[in-house]
This record gives sequence, structure tokens and C-alpha cells, in this order.
Amino acid sequence: MSRSTDDRRGFSTRAIHHGYDAYAGDGALNPPVYMSSTYTFPTVADGSARFAGEQVGYVYSRVGNPTTALLEQRIAELEGGEAALVTGSGMGATTSLLWTLLKPGDEVIADKTLYGCTYAYFNHGLARFGVKITHIDLTEPDNLARAISEKTRLIFFETPANPNMRLVDIAAVATIARSHDAKVVVDNTYCTPYLQRPLELGADYVVHSATKYLGGHGDLIAGAIVGPKESLDEVRFYGLKDMTGAVLSSQDAFLVLRGLKTLALRMDRHCQNAQGIAEFIADHPKVEVCHFPGLASFPQRELAERQMSAPGGMVAFELKGGLEAGCRFMNALQLITRAVSLGDAESLAQHPASMTHSVYTPEERAAHLINEGLVRLSAGLEDLDDLLGDIDQALANV
Ligand SMILES: *Cc1c(COP(=O)(O)O)cnc(C)c1O
Repeated sequence: MSRSTDDRRGFSTRAIHHGYDAYAGDGALNPPVYMSSTYTFPTVADGSARFAGEQVGYVYSRVGNPTTALLEQRIAELEGGEAALVTGSGMGATTSLLWTLLKPGDEVIADKTLYGCTYAYFNHGLARFGVKITHIDLTEPDNLARAISEKTRLIFFETPANPNMRLVDIAAVATIARSHDAKVVVDNTYCTPYLQRPLELGADYVVHSATKYLGGHGDLIAGAIVGPKESLDEVRFYGLKDMTGAVLSSQDAFLVLRGLKTLALRMDRHCQNAQGIAEFIADHPKVEVCHFPGLASFPQRELAERQMSAPGGMVAFELKGGLEAGCRFMNALQLITRAVSLGDAESLAQHPASMTHSVYTPEERAAHLINEGLVRLSAGLEDLDDLLGDIDQALANV
């Protein structure tokens, strides 16, 4: 995978500057937001040449816009990928990519734990169109070596997985997939390229819900795909243009560009707060187990340290007393907000079994290792002492 010329600059410098020359054009510090659905053709011949791909230039914003193009360059740069394509949501990223790569008769191998809507798309959507979905426990790469076949077109997983924080060894999975000509797609929403870069570890594509940490302020819905340019051109002109139409608006692209400027700063604080919360929760007598890669008790600690530069901002835990205790804890929170989504300045708590993972049946949740009493917490950017105070009083209510 090729890297751009900004290669030697640091992550934050590239997140702030890559792809935009503030001295060019009008000299505006920030890039313009191009609010235009369509673009002009000087002559019919120019229009014809642009449609044929023989002339460089914009045609219509469903396939490209200068503001979204800048965001694409910047995200590709940060993930260390050849190209990126931004979409109207994280689901728009996954569906645009998979509608392009898959055909009837293909098989997808996915991990047991997936974000709820991704799970629904695989098992209620793709399955209706003749794609076979097999869920296996990818935390053990040997399971993949046994399950993979010549029909396996694609391996899909999150690491850490939403919501139970299980990790998958990206390099080990990529090695097995490559020997069977299968593509590896990693949902890197939880880590962002600041903490983990799957393409450098051998994955073929990264997908993101940019709604979360990349945007970072809970004020937009957006997604991104990063991968080889030739393949992403196909996704743009087929998956996105014809199959999903999941286009990102230029205003939202601008907001994600703004979010990226502070990504590293924010992630450092999210990680710091999550570490403090996890340590406090893990030792609490009312807590059964806390899942956080930065805890000494985390079973995949070695992999976390090898693959992620820090443990991230997401904490999951189970209270003694299961579902009922979890609901009581959630309802007692006064500062931490009861809401789905993650990666915002506000700390957010949700209950996967009744919220994000309610599309799974109870039997499926059990089979897919999502405990009914699990509470998922996205550590925000508030002062840690205030967060711990709120958690402490909520636990006292359990
Ligand atoms: C939120 C989320 C998605 C879906 O993204 P949207 O932007 O809500 O469409 C996919 N994967 C993960 C891990 C998520 O957290």
C-alpha cells in the first residue's frame, strides 16, 4: 500500500494539514464547503469526456465533491491507505463496499460479535441475495484456518468488538485470508487510525463509522472506506452510486475535517478517562467483570499491546445481579448520558441487549457472547473525578 509524501510528518500534523494548501485560492485557513449538487460542462464534448472518465473533473455530487474529496484524502493518509471513500453513514460504508465485492454464491466469514446493524445487514440483508454468512470466533485464528474455503470471498470483523471488547489478531487473520485469496475488512471505528492501523497489519479494507471518534462531537452521521484505489473506484461508481446512494453531504464532510484536527488530543483524553473508569469499576464489589484492554486482568493483553498503541476509550462491564442491576445503574446516572453512539465529548452509557444489539434474538446474543447484563460506556472528555463520582453514586444505587 503506497504512502503519500507527508509520510514523515506526525499524525496530528497530517490530521490538520494533509491535502489542503491554505495559501492557495483565496488564502482561507479552512477549506471551502462546496454546496453544489452538480457541476458545469463548458461543452457537450467536455460533459461526455467526464462521464467517460477521460477528462478530470466533477460531474455530480453523488460521485464526488471537492469537500468530500479532501476528507477522503485525509482519512486515506491517516489510515496509511491508497484511497478512501466517504459515505453518509458507517452502515453506508459497509453496505457500499460489500454490495460491490460480493456476488451470489460467495461466502463471508464474520466474527461472532458485530455491531447490531452490521449483523442485521449480513443475516437479514445479504443472506437474502445468496451470500452465505458464517460466524466464527475469530479471537482464535485457528478457527479461521478450519472454516475458510475457496468460496470465502471476505472476512469481516471489528477489533475491539462492539460491545464486548474481544480482540482479533489482524495480522494473523490477514495471513490466513491471503493464502485463500479472501479479502479482510476491519471495522476500525473503536480505535481510529490514531490507535490502530489495520492496513499496515495486512488488512485489505478499513471501514469506519465517522459518526463516532472521527467526527467526535455527536453532531453528524458519516462513514468511510479505505483501501486500494482501483477497488474503491469500483465502490464509488457502483456500490455507492447505484446500490446504496449513501452519500455524505459537504457540510458534514467539513465537520469531520474539523473533528480530525483534534482527533489525537481527544483520543488521548478518551483513553485516559477510560483507563481511570475501568480501574475504578474493575475493583468495585458490585462488579462481576470489566472488559477493558488496559486492565492487567484483560485476557488478550498481549495482543492489545502488540496491535493497538493505547487501549481506547470504550469500557464494557457486567454488574453482579445481571440485567436488572445494569438497568438500575444506568437509570441512576446523573452526569453520564444514557444514549447509544460513542466517541463524543459527553460520556455515554447504553445497554446493548435492549439497544444497539436488540436485533439479535436472546439466543443469538448468548451464542454471540453478548451478555444480557452488559453495560457499554463510552468515556467522554469530562473531568475524570466527576465521572468517577457519578459512577460511584450510581453503583451505590444498585
Ligand atoms: C456506529 C457503528 C457502526 C455504524 O455506523 P453509523 O454511522 O451509525 O451508520 C458500525 N460499526 C461500529 C463499530 C459502530 O460503532
